[in-house]
Amino acid sequence: MDCIFCQIVAGKVPSEILYQDEEVIAFRDINPQAPTHLIIIPKRHIPSFAHLSEAESPLIGHMVNIANQLAKGEGISGSGYRLAMNCGEEGGQLVPHLHLHLLGGRRLSDKLG
Ligand code: 5GP
Ligand code: ZN
Repeated sequence: MDCIFCQIVAGKVPSEILYQDEEVIAFRDINPQAPTHLIIIPKRHIPSFAHLSEAESPLIGHMVNIANQLAKGEGISGSGYRLAMNCGEEGGQLVPHLHLHLLGGRRLSDKLG
């Protein structure tokens, strides 16, 4: 098991976990790009959202819902935030375990790429 996020799920790599349930876990990014930078992942190893079957797509809705709740907890619900999912090399995905970034707490760049 050489996936860093699977190791976080297994508790083998420490992280600041803010939420977990049977399906997903959320923790603070180790190298934050904004005052709030959280990572929400499925506990099960899925390499990227390009690998999601249609039957699994409700998982993304669940992750977005958790992200919205966490944004409230971080006090950035009113000021605004960004949810981002990188997919594959040119999409900027470095960790090959599907994840949702929650970024906020400052005005984010208007550039998408
Ligand atoms: P990606 O570029 O794959 O979309 O984003 C991966 C994110 O995971 C990066 O923002 C990076 O800082 C974060 N990350 C990588 N390794 C670790 C780790 O061991 N712990 C935590 N908390 N975050 C990590
Ligand atoms: Zn994994």
